[in-house]
Amino acid sequence: MIQSVAFIGLGAMGYRMAAHLVNQFEQVWVWNRNFSKAEQHAQQYGSQAVELSQAVQADVIFSCLPTSQDVVDLIEGLSLKAGSVWVDCTSGVPDIARVLHTQLKAQGVGFLDAPVSGQTIGAEQGTLTVMIGGDAEDVQRALPAMQCFGQLIQHVGEPGAGFAVKAVNNMLLAVNLCAALEGFSTLKAHGVDLNNALACINASSGKSAATESVLPQRILNREFPLTFALPLLAKDTGIALDLAHQAKLAVPVIAQTQSLVQAASNQIDQNSDFSTLAYLYEHWNKITIE
Ligand code: NDP
Repeated sequence: MIQSVAFIGLGAMGYRMAAHLVNQFEQVWVWNRNFSKAEQHAQQYGSQAVELSQAVQADVIFSCLPTSQDVVDLIEGLSLKAGSVWVDCTSGVPDIARVLHTQLKAQGVGFLDAPVSGQTIGAEQGTLTVMIGGDAEDVQRALPAMQCFGQLIQHVGEPGAGFAVKAVNNMLLAVNLCAALEGFSTLKAHGVDLNNALACINASSGKSAATESVLPQRILNREFPLTFALPLLAKDTGIALDLAHQAKLAVPVIAQTQSLVQAASNQIDQNSDFSTLAYLYEHWNKITIE
């Protein structure tokens, strides 16, 4: 039985994910580096803003930080409660998940790498996909808490497997986005109306999440709303490429895509949405994708 849950990292995703826990559990503890966000969460949703040392005494502890290294730095030196499960929803590095799994197990604490997909709208609606690496008994223990914000909750394998699936998913998003930007730049250069073209492609075999949501909702309308920062996508594509390299695979498309996303991330303001990858192509080709 879960008596208490905690959420650490109330960013674009965490703030919304933690809100759902309040409907299911009486003791919901939240902590954020900038503590005023935790206080705001408590005020808005009825969670409890607590010190980090208290948050990690919960039965199930969620974290959702930018990188695995942030999670490692956070956990270092913390005293954890035997019998609890740490569920890391960061999009992280599989090797680090394996290290944390071993380290925490020595303290009697379960560790799951449980990254999510579905963007901020999925976090808000509680319809995220959760892809989990770790021990089956820990998945079962944490399941009632994950169900608060997850729609598809899939145990995908050993520690690290959840992070691997997430990295490959985001690499596929990036590959499709680069391909769509190149395709739509070509159409624009040939004077084709891009909204008409999009309607045809989204009813045809060339469609993807890039054409079905990113292009119409972020790029063609020139809104580029910041919900998923470009450096985070560059981090994810980097993890996917590292995984392929570790296995000595030939992956030219992944390698090119990682370079493109990294170039965009280096060049464009760090606080830009991932859809501003379009600026890279627009600058190169002197074309506006609208
Ligand atoms: P944000 O940048 O919005 O939030 C990051 C959170 O982590 C903030 O609460 C921030 O605290 C905290 N934080 C940052 N660095 C540290 C640190 N060193 N120590 C402690 N806390 C820290 O990120 P997102 O919510 O967008 O992303 C979080 C994770 O989820 C990432 O791994 C991302 O790739 C993944 N993700 C994001 C999605 C999205 O659509 N945004 C979708 C799916 C996954 P503070 O407020 O103090 O800065």
